[in-house]
Amino acid sequence: MPTPIVIAIDGTSASGKSTNAKLVARALGFVHVDTGAMYRTLAWYCLKHGVDVHNPRAVTAALRRWKTTLVCRDGHVYLLVDGYNPAREIRSAEVSAAVSHVAAIPAVRRWMKKKQRECIQFGNLVMEGRDIGTNVFPETEFKYYLDASPEERAKRRAAEGIQENLADRDRRDSQRAVAPLMVPLGARVINNSNLTPEQTSSLILEDIRRRLARKE
Ligand code: C5P
Repeated sequence: MPTPIVIAIDGTSASGKSTNAKLVARALGFVHVDTGAMYRTLAWYCLKHGVDVHNPRAVTAALRRWKTTLVCRDGHVYLLVDGYNPAREIRSAEVSAAVSHVAAIPAVRRWMKKKQRECIQFGNLVMEGRDIGTNVFPETEFKYYLDASPEERAKRRAAEGIQENLADRDRRDSQRAVAPLMVPLGARVINNSNLTPEQTSSLILEDIRRRLARKE
């Protein structure tokens, strides 16, 4: 069996990672993995069980306790907790405010990296996040980094009915000591402030197809 291909899509909050990762995955027939959802699931679990998200020891203890399974359904990977997928709950304002705190904890990042690398059991992947090209799959040659102006990103979140301080979250994600958000070496950077998702995903797909054709 050939080694599965991993397409890494990193970038700032509300830069269009999810929309484009899904479009690219669908076009290629690859499995989509939203790693942000995995961090959000841990933040949700901590809030639900009264675990202080600012306390690394408490969060690390929760990581040892929780019972998770990775599943692939209809082309998307989900992290279930006790067999449950908290898809709706992890999008709450409380989880959004808590998530970058748990994501800064080194033990959490180690746990997530291991789980995220296990996703290749499901085949070729389009994996979106903050550290996929730098830390989770640094060996992939398919690295993309999305960004858009702060005004455009705030507008996109507002259109989804979400009011959030994106700058605060981006600052915490970029300044943490372990695997901070940054442009991976060799990544193609796409500022999509003035692009539609179709245009952005076409740029990514053209680049992937060109690279794949070179390998044949
Ligand atoms: O992508 P999303 O906004 O859902 O990610 C939520 C949070 O999860 C990010 O703000 C970041 O703190 C964390 N995250 C991360 N590394 C990833 C994906 C997400 O630290 N690969």
